[in-house]
Order: sequence, then structure tokens, then C-alpha cells
Amino acid sequence: MNVEVLAIGDELLIGQTINTNAAWIGQEMSLRGYRVLRSSTIQDDPEAIVGALDNILPNTNCVIITGGLGPTKDDLTKYTLASYFDSPLEIHQPTLTQIEAFFASRNRPMLEVNVQQAALPTKAQILKNRQGTAAGMWFEMNNVIFISLPGVPYEMKTIMSEEAFPLLELRFAGLTLYHKTMHTQGIGESFLADQIADWEERVRNLGLGLAYLPSPGLVKLRLSSYTGKENEALIDQLFEELEKRLPEYIFGYDNCTIEAALGQELLAKNASIGTVESCTAGLLAQHIASISGASAYYQGALLTYSNKLKVKIAKVDPAVIEKHGAVSEEVAKEMAENGRAILGVDYCLSTTGVAGPTGGSSEKPVGLVWVGLSGPHGTIAKKFQFGDNRQRNLEMTVLGAMNWLRFYLKSN
Ligand code: ATP
Ligand code: MG
Repeated sequence: MNVEVLAIGDELLIGQTINTNAAWIGQEMSLRGYRVLRSSTIQDDPEAIVGALDNILPNTNCVIITGGLGPTKDDLTKYTLASYFDSPLEIHQPTLTQIEAFFASRNRPMLEVNVQQAALPTKAQILKNRQGTAAGMWFEMNNVIFISLPGVPYEMKTIMSEEAFPLLELRFAGLTLYHKTMHTQGIGESFLADQIADWEERVRNLGLGLAYLPSPGLVKLRLSSYTGKENEALIDQLFEELEKRLPEYIFGYDNCTIEAALGQELLAKNASIGTVESCTAGLLAQHIASISGASAYYQGALLTYSNKLKVKIAKVDPAVIEKHGAVSEEVAKEMAENGRAILGVDYCLSTTGVAGPTGGSSEKPVGLVWVGLSGPHGTIAKKFQFGDNRQRNLEMTVLGAMNWLRFYLKSN
């Protein structure tokens, strides 16, 4: 089912009000598997409204219109729609009774303009507004549904949830969009696309939609099917192929996070974990512990930002720091290995890096990070080279470290 959203209101155009209605409708439609093809904002003006209705996209099934239904003279939507759908207005008795009750319950006098709010187009199916006085309206023309709703966000949401969505679900059962999202970490968007070009071509030939959704350190891959859950098994199978190809990058699906995926691996191994952090200064600890139930595996951290504390608390050999520098494979390994013993954990991750933007050298450029990993099978370290944005480097370090350990646990 394809949807178009039309927000009416001058205050939206001048930025006085943020168009939260469009955001909410977009989210709710997509949750239900409906596809929003276009969302636009127009003036509170009959010509603009008619222009928009005349120009909806050819494959739109449903247009959701919000705003301009109030009692004041600037609210012209209802009159414009009545004339557009060639429908006279008549007092709609259930709505009038409800408006009267609304004013009575608030002890406020009712004016003629409020009575006029119950004058509704006879061709419209009326959608009850339990929260206010402007009823919603459902029109149909040439197989397209037009739903007009008040602009006040809580009134709009109430009518959509209680009246419009149940009717749409009846009408469009089975014609929904199904999607599944795969999460990757540590592989850039273009490199990923290059690795899976043949797979991508097959996906497109199967008539499925594919979207790359990148954010720092992470790329999501979303597969969509326009015929509901019919293609669920096919989509699972396509993702499984990628898991075989790129297991070190793929950590989960849909609402899964790296923190949760790592937690699951630790729980499956009944293993505990600790961290020894220099450049991330506790950020790794914070991420690992952000999962409810993390106490089942997370023991705690040593925060050794200075060389002095690396030596004093993490027992790193000062001669190793002297020889290789604090940001080095050797120091990262010592931090992880000693941390494992000191904290009494099965696995220990360490971080040491040049977060930047200052402090780099030609040998140790900004963005260079070493992550150490110590476990029952020994101690290793991994080198990362990020950019010059400090906050981003720290976030990428944390994501990279967690995903590295996740994959290590899975394969060892
Ligand atoms: P009312 O009966 O209150 O007049 P209405 O249907 O006429 O409702 P508008 O006059 O367009 O709606 O807007 C009413 C209130 O809702 C205003 O405060 C407006 O800023 C807000 N509003 C309107 N459209 C949106 C929108 N798309 N997103 C968020 N808020 C909105
Ligand atoms: Mg209004």
C-alpha cells in the first residue's frame, strides 16, 4: 500500500512549527509495512490544496492530509475538500453531540463556529475525534483514499490509531511492505557494495528492494519485499549467504546492537569480561554495560589514561612503554593480559590510541588505535586507523573492539 502525506499549514512552511505529524505518520506507516512515497508541506490555501490533490503520484493508494480543520476562518481544508469531492455539508449528528459534550465537560460556552465544525461532507465517512472538535474525514475517489485529519498532533494520532489504521488494515491486508535489516560493523559502504555486487544484482533481479544505511562505523543493509511476508524465507536465505561471506562484519538483524550481540556470545560461553581503557576512558565500559543484564558477564574496568597509571594499576612494564610508546601493540597486549589477571575475568579488552585532533606524529598519526584482547587462548592485538574527529574515533574504537571480540568468541 502506497501512501502520500500532505501537511497543510503556513506555520510549517515558515518553520514556526516542526512537522512532527509527517515524521510520526512516516514511522507508523513503515511499522505497518506501508510505503510512504512522498511527503510534502503546502500552504493553507484552497488553490494549493487542490493543486496537491490533482497531482498525487500515480501509484498512490492513500493520501493522509493533516491540518487546517479548525473552527477559525484560516482553516479552509474542509471547505476545499467538500468542493473537491463535490459533496454538500450537513450537520453530522453524532459529531454535534460529541462537540456539545466536549464543551459541557469543560464548562466552556459553545459558539456557532463550533456547531459549524459538525457540518461535514455527506460523501465522507466520518472518523471520530475523541480528543477534540474537528472530526476526521475519509473520502474515496478513483480508487484512492483521502484521509483528512486535524493538525494538532495528539488529535491526529488518536484518530489515526483508533479509526484510520484499523480501516486501512482491513482494506490492505496482505499488501504490506516487509523488511529485514542486517547490521554490519567495520566495513565501509563502498567496500561492502564492492564485495557483494553479484549478490546485489541477484537481489534486484528478484524484485526486492535494497538500501544501504550508513552511520559512523556501521552500515545497515535493508532488504524489502513489497508483497508482505511472502518473501520472508527468501530474504533470510539471502542474508545467510552474506553471513557466510562476511562473518566478521555482520553482527545482527533489525533491533540488534553490537552490545547485545557481544553479550549473547559471552552468555553462550558463560564467560566474564573486563576492560582496561586508555583513550576510550570508560566509554567501552559504558557501552558494554548499557545492556540490561550485563552484570551476568561484565566485571568492571581499569581506567589507565596516563602512562603512570598504566604502570601502577595495569602493571605495564615501564621499559615496554619507553621502547614502543604507549600507543603500541606491545602496550595494548600487556594492558589486556595484565587486566585479565588483575580483574579476574575470562576475557579482557584494552584500548590505547591517539584520539586527536592534536598529538599525532608521522609514526603515530592521529586516529591510530591499538585494541588488545586477552583470553584463555592467549593475547592478541589489532590495529585500527581512524580519522581526525576525536569523538568519532572513540566511538569507532568502542564499536570495533566490541565487534572484534564478538567475532573472536564466535570462532574460538
Ligand atoms: P485546530 O482545530 O486546532 O485549528 P487544525 O486542524 O486547524 O486544528 P491547524 O490549525 O493546522 O490544525 O494546527 C493546529 C495546531 O497543530 C497548531 O499549533 C499547529 O502548529 C499544529 N500542527 C499543525 N500541523 C502540524 C504538523 N504537521 N506537525 C506538528 N504540528 C502541527
Ligand atoms: Mg486551526
